[in-house]
Order: sequence, then structure tokens, then C-alpha cells
Amino acid sequence: MSLGEFDLIRRHFDRPVQRQPLGVGDDCALLAPAPGQQLAVSTDLLVEGRHFLSTVAPQALGHKALAVNLSDLAACGAEPMAYTLSLALPRVDDAWLAAFASGLHALADAHAIELVGGDTTAGPLTVGITVMGQVPPGQALLRSGARPGDALWVSGWPGRARLWLEAVRGTLRLEGASFEAGRLAMEYPQPRVSLGLALRGVASSAIDLSDGLIGDLGHVLERSGAARGFDRPLGAEIDAQRLPRHPALSGLPARTVLRCLLAGGDDYELLFTAPPSREAAVHEAARQAGVAVHAIGRITEPSGVVVRDGDGVRLSGHWSSYDHFRSEGGAQP
Ligand code: ADP
Ligand code: MG
Repeated sequence: MSLGEFDLIRRHFDRPVQRQPLGVGDDCALLAPAPGQQLAVSTDLLVEGRHFLSTVAPQALGHKALAVNLSDLAACGAEPMAYTLSLALPRVDDAWLAAFASGLHALADAHAIELVGGDTTAGPLTVGITVMGQVPPGQALLRSGARPGDALWVSGWPGRARLWLEAVRGTLRLEGASFEAGRLAMEYPQPRVSLGLALRGVASSAIDLSDGLIGDLGHVLERSGAARGFDRPLGAEIDAQRLPRHPALSGLPARTVLRCLLAGGDDYELLFTAPPSREAAVHEAARQAGVAVHAIGRITEPSGVVVRDGDGVRLSGHWSSYDHFRSEGGAQP
């Protein structure tokens, strides 16, 4: 890297650390997890054109790149500590970097975590972040802990980001306030870190929603089925009318709404399970975290995923992917 580029890192990314022993500027960072805690580590790579549009505001990109990583820590019930940032930049653009850094630092400050290192190179715009968190041994929330009979819960208000994406693509029309709500959900997801922490010892399993509710639920069912000794994934029943519907989704065709809710993606809400006996504890965790939670169904023995309407009638359709969503609204007995 040229001297000018070192300056640039220093200007935008070298901030003194207060919570960790050593941050940016040396060959390694030094981290100090609390005594006896396990390190929780997660990495996400965002590539322009694949994970974000070239038109995204740099501040939003800075926010989201860290948010998606924090969401992984949230899903594990880990407390965020520090993160590293790897950047490939097509050109050195000071104003762009300043905006990107402001989005990044604002979210980091909100979660009291520090940037402790990284790498920078020329190349197609790519943002890689690794977050490190801590969790007491045995307390991490895992995908593998769901059991038949557990209730299925989701936090917040999924579906908005996909709605916005479809409006941008021109496949549906959104009026101003709904479009703005969708854009905010897509560009500024709020990782449910405090909910993940509050659900330790309450939830039996958890995952964060990045690829769509049904697809991500599939990961839980698969790992939990294997952990219970089944040779097939566990099953689940979802009550369509209990899925939380943000006002931005109102006034749209019911099938479009269901599609956004079940197969949308980019939600960064937590999908989790808990035994029915822990219902009050789930509500208490949600209250502590200041996040809405909704019971949307239950885990079953291996039998696939079934979505039912308000009358308990099974809705047909391929739910796992928005683009392959084929239900024509028909009901199956
Ligand atoms: P090295 O060649 O030893 O890997 P670098 O020149 O890549 O060192 O980086 C110098 C210092 O700047 C290191 O402490 C590194 O962690 C930090 N750094 C480089 N790029 C970034 C970045 N994008 N964000 C934060 N810190 C960075
Ligand atoms: Mg380097």
C-alpha cells in the first residue's frame, strides 16, 4: 500500500481502543475476553453487485456490513467485543470513506464495540468484517437445539426489505411511506443483540434471518433433527395469520405479503424456538430487550414445513425462495 493509503486508514479507521488492550496499527490486535468466557467469532463478506447495489449510500453500507455480522452474534446469544474490517476499494475516495466510516462507527458505538484491525487493498468494492464476541461456556444459542413441541418465535417485523427490493426492481408498487420503511429495513437493519443475550437459557435454538424465514428455518430443522438422532430434518407448522405484519405491508395482495414474510430475506430478525412452558420467559426477554416477538408456529417430528391459514387449512406453495414461490393461492385439504 502507498503512503497515502496508510494515511487514509489512519484517518478513518484508526480510533483509540478503550475496551481492548491493542487495536489498529500493530501487526496484531490484542483482545481480552472476560475470564472464563468463550470467544464467539463470525465473518461475513459483502460484494458489490451481489450483496448490495452499486447505488447504496456509503453510510448505509458501513452500517449494514457491521449489522449483518452483529446479527450473527445475536443469534448465538454472544456479547459483541471487537471487529476487524477488510476492504477492497476500486479507488481511494475520501468523501466515500468518511461516509462509510460514519455508518460503521455509529453502529459500533451503539453496541460498544471497537475496530481493532483489518486489511485494505485495491480491487472491486468488497467489505469483509469479522466480529468477535464472548459467551459463557454452554450458554451459546445454537441452531441444533430445537425439539418437537417447541414453539417457534420471530422477532420484529420481517418482510419489509424484500418488499422494497421488489419495488426497486419494478415488480410491485409501494407508496411513499412504505417505500421508505422498506428502504430503512434493507439499508439499516438493527441487529437483535440484546434480545439474543436475554434469550440465553430461555430459547432452545436460534438463527438470524438473512436468507428468508423458511430457508433459515430449514437450517434449524436440519441441525436439530440430526442432533435428536433423526435421519431427516425436524418439521414445523407455521400459522400464516400469526406472522407479524408491519404497516408497510398493508394494502398489498395477500400472496405478495406472505411471500415477503416467508421467503423475503435481509430481515436480520431472530427466529428462535422455546418450550411452550417458557412462554412467559420469552415475553420477559423481549420486554428487557425492547423488541417485539411473535409466536408463529411450532416444531414437529420430521414431516416437512406446513403453512396453515387462519382456518387451519394447509396452504400450498414452494415457500423457500421468493422467486420460486409457486402457490397460486390454492388450498389443499
Ligand atoms: P500488515 O502488512 O502487517 O498486514 P497493514 O499495512 O495491512 O499491515 O495494516 C497496518 C495496520 O492497519 C494493521 O494494524 C491493520 O490491522 C490496520 N488496518 C489495515 N487496514 C485496515 C482497515 N480497513 N480497517 C482497520 N484497520 C486496518
Ligand atoms: Mg495487511
